[in-house]
Amino acid sequence: MEIQSEKNEIMDVFYRISKEHGLKITPQRTAIYRELLKAKDHPSADIIYKRIVKKIPNISFDTVNRTLLTFSKIGITNIVEGYGQPKRYDPDMHAHHHFRCIQCNSIIDFHNTEYDNIAVPGEINKQFTVINKKVVLEGLCNTCKKR
Ligand SMILES: [Zn+2]
Ligand SMILES: [Zn+2]
Repeated sequence: MEIQSEKNEIMDVFYRISKEHGLKITPQRTAIYRELLKAKDHPSADIIYKRIVKKIPNISFDTVNRTLLTFSKIGITNIVEGYGQPKRYDPDMHAHHHFRCIQCNSIIDFHNTEYDNIAVPGEINKQFTVINKKVVLEGLCNTCKKR
């Protein structure tokens, strides 16, 4: 029950921010956003496309790709930084950190309050305004470790 209301809240934010940016809320865009929200694996556009085409057979890859880029531009999804191509998308806008497997490229979320509160070096604070901090740990996931 609680999870359901949280989901509705997220959809409300989606509708509101889309409206603020003059983005029409189409059934395709809503479906792409819902698919992205469900994903815990930081999917690429290609993976989202493969999942969604099963439900909306006439959707094009280009639509999915452009829509995801638009979502990140208006700030309702993040592009996982530093992984090059293809871009990976992250619908979780709350503070969290990533573990990345260097072998299979899986990206796993984790939470850690110490990392959230990590101090920004003075020389950075002097020059820049930091608005987002993310710790990325790299290594081998359990599946790759066993190989
Ligand atoms: Zn792995
Ligand atoms: Zn994430």
